[in-house]
Amino acid sequence: MKILIVGGGGREHAIAWKLVQSPRVKKLYCAPGNPGIAALAECVPINAEEIDKICSFAKEKEIDFAVIGPEVPLSMGIVDALKEVGIKAFGPNQKCARLEGSKSFTKAFLARHKIPTAGYKEYTDMEQLKKAIGIFGYPMVLKADGLAAGKGVVIAEDRAAAEKAIEEMMGDKIFGAAGEKVVVEEFLSGIEASVLCFVDGKTILPMESAQDYKRIYDNDKGLNTGGMGTYSPSLIFTDEIKEQINERVLKPTLQGFQKDGLDFKGVLFIGLMITEEGPKVIEFNNRFGDPETQSVLPRMKSDLVDIMEAVMEDRLAEQKLEWDDRRAVCVVMASCGYPGEYKKGNLIEGLHDVDEDVLVFHSGTKLVDQDIVTDGGRVLGITALGETHEEARKKAYDNVTRIIFEGAQYRTDIGLLRKMER
Ligand code: AMP
Repeated sequence: MKILIVGGGGREHAIAWKLVQSPRVKKLYCAPGNPGIAALAECVPINAEEIDKICSFAKEKEIDFAVIGPEVPLSMGIVDALKEVGIKAFGPNQKCARLEGSKSFTKAFLARHKIPTAGYKEYTDMEQLKKAIGIFGYPMVLKADGLAAGKGVVIAEDRAAAEKAIEEMMGDKIFGAAGEKVVVEEFLSGIEASVLCFVDGKTILPMESAQDYKRIYDNDKGLNTGGMGTYSPSLIFTDEIKEQINERVLKPTLQGFQKDGLDFKGVLFIGLMITEEGPKVIEFNNRFGDPETQSVLPRMKSDLVDIMEAVMEDRLAEQKLEWDDRRAVCVVMASCGYPGEYKKGNLIEGLHDVDEDVLVFHSGTKLVDQDIVTDGGRVLGITALGETHEEARKKAYDNVTRIIFEGAQYRTDIGLLRKMER
């Protein structure tokens, strides 16, 4: 089989790593890929959002199917465009991609199908929104409706912070068109957890869970990031909680897709808050999460090509996912300054000094002459497996310290159980 991966981050590196293990894969391409992916696939200099070029390339190379990593091309309709030129793709079509592309669309879906979530109201007029400050009390949760690279949510502690956020979203338009509509939500207290599921028209199949660390600093301090690390499986997913999620969230979501004519095929990533009243949906994403994928796929024993093919052909019900019992811990190494401004182009050393069984997934890296240099906020994800949590954690950190670049920052508490997880 010839497969094309679209994207070029740690998530796509983990997908590539998993796909090449399948005996069915004869050739793997990645657009645009990165220097880590280049060791596994032929990288082609086409950006993930250059849909016409991706379609032409896929046709020319007679690709069997494409795997779409990031949310932006999905929202732009890359799956529909590939279908038009006769190429199958793993990922939702444009209609379904609205589940991540519009918070308002998702909230209406959740309400219509009685799936537990925070109460909400939506606004397109700045003055109306200002009058609504505090309607659900504080903290006030404000969300730009559209895609905002994971930065469109503000949790305002008081009136002044809410006013500032509204001015920025609707006045200064810092998120552009994504902030033309703003969703205000009730604040939910509890423990956050994510579950990634494979979905086809008839089946929703959850993967092993992962717990992520969103804040930049230890002990969940500092700004939100794309994710500074993960471990898998999550320790808060007791059998009781799994059952509640299955009954209250997964089943009605699949039924909702069917009733609404949403032919979702791909990965649905459900962000949840486990509250005293049970699990409530915070958000839907319509692709593999990053860095969750970097700790979940290394534990998957099933052939990912078989699973993806089954999803595209509505045969997911026949599939069973098999998992490695070992624990995985993934530590993200980021550039100094991230998630704010940071410098690029710092030489990365020690990439070959890691243990053979440790995985180094590239996110923001670039090849310059013979050197690999930093090229993004999140630079690398280092994943280790262990019989116990502690073993995986120790191994991941032992290896992190062997990789050196100027200004490298990483959390030191990934995989250390927080109070809520113990
Ligand atoms: P989202 O992009 O919708 O996942 O929101 C980003 C983050 O904001 C989430 O991971 C939560 O930590 C937080 N968040 C979003 N909605 C709520 C809510 N209704 N109550 C409490 N925290 C929230």
